[in-house]
Amino acid sequence: MTNQEKAQQLEQWDRCAFFHPSTHLADFAHGKAPERIVNSGSGVYITDSNGNKLLDAFAGLYCVNTGYGQQKIIDAICKQAQELAYYHAYVGHGTEASITLSKMIIDRAPDNMSKVYYGMSGSDANETNIKIIWYYNNVLGRPEKKKIISRWRGYHGSGLMTGSLTGLELFHNQFDLPLSQVIHTDAPYYFHRKDCNQSEAAFSAECADNLEQLILKEGADTIAAFIGEPALGTGGLVPPPKGYWQAIQAVLDKYDILLIADEVISGFGRLGAMFGSDLYGMKPDIITSAKGLTSAYAPLSASIVSDKIWQVLEDGTTKLGAFGHGWTYSAHPIGAAAGVASLELVDELNLVDNANVRGQSLLNKLKTAIGSHKNVGDIRGQGLLCAIEFVADKNSRTLFNPIGQHGPKVAAAMLARHVIGRAMPQGDIIGIAPPLIISEAEIDTVVSAITAAVSEVFGD
Ligand code: PMP
Repeated sequence: MTNQEKAQQLEQWDRCAFFHPSTHLADFAHGKAPERIVNSGSGVYITDSNGNKLLDAFAGLYCVNTGYGQQKIIDAICKQAQELAYYHAYVGHGTEASITLSKMIIDRAPDNMSKVYYGMSGSDANETNIKIIWYYNNVLGRPEKKKIISRWRGYHGSGLMTGSLTGLELFHNQFDLPLSQVIHTDAPYYFHRKDCNQSEAAFSAECADNLEQLILKEGADTIAAFIGEPALGTGGLVPPPKGYWQAIQAVLDKYDILLIADEVISGFGRLGAMFGSDLYGMKPDIITSAKGLTSAYAPLSASIVSDKIWQVLEDGTTKLGAFGHGWTYSAHPIGAAAGVASLELVDELNLVDNANVRGQSLLNKLKTAIGSHKNVGDIRGQGLLCAIEFVADKNSRTLFNPIGQHGPKVAAAMLARHVIGRAMPQGDIIGIAPPLIISEAEIDTVVSAITAAVSEVFGD
């Protein structure tokens, strides 16, 4: 079979047998939406089956933090697979990799963090977190304190509970969500403020005030926890406005409401700090981690719980017996081995600092290149999580109507220049979140592709 015949056969199988996530199913099945078969990766590049070498400026789904083809992680996975591909973690079983990784995570996490529970994805880690919190309040004898507050535009997963927590309509309307225990409050999206003269601090105070009103309306004794990403991710890539987390934390403390910091994107360096919680002065009771934990070389997630939570869980099992929650693949040895190697690489290659330095440079270069363009409304970011938001009118910050048509055009124009950026849902926003190993020369390639794509789509 020639390479061309093989490629045609794969395309046919893909269209007739593969149910892709987050995809327009009819367009895909009937050949109207493009497919891409990805064959290999090295550094910040992937190569597709047509031989195109593409600079992946979104690190897969902001997860391949150490870049593609890292021999150290590959070797760790192979060694683990040879020695012991699988054993479970139930009733006190561990492996060298899962135990070592737990110690490494606790050593890197904020001071009050105590223990790590493992899953396979960011979604299941957040499901675990909600169950831990419900259990916590049951043990404390307050079974009515169960509601969870999340933010519009927050992203916390695709499960029944986590899809409910996710504050994007696409994840609700088609599936009878959100569940009744979930309520949403304001997105900390300063660029979308109504009053253009409002300061960041005043905007943050308004978000905290609205949160307090919601808590009072629902009754503080019914609210268990608040969940938020340190910097909004899929909902727009928005670093918090000044004073936001301090103002929110004060309200949560006042009403005895737990905080889950969803660091699935931000954990282990993406924001130029080991954790976003440290960077923004959040005091989480639980931290969610996935993506950068293994650089996506194997599926693994972590729910990192504080000592305060742990003490109650211990008491609970003394009263109720074993903790009744587990996955077959909790602490999967291959995931754990990938995690150990990936976290070692983050240190060895100084990736937290690199995220900071390259992220600053990316922002500066983008602002110089396209900051004054008539349709560029906002260029924002923290570390290597960066967004460009396009507007119909720059002065009034008026968004395009209909929204969401221009972001994909810019992404397509970038792709034509062999650079992958992500058109974020619910906006005209291009997201840039490359592997943290990106070099200055590669940053320049990304900036040139964006600059050319913007002038192709909008004119000069
Ligand atoms: N939380 C956040 C902040 C995320 O960005 C994501 C995924 N993009 C998730 C949770 C869900 O992770 P997964 O897709 O691995 O279930």
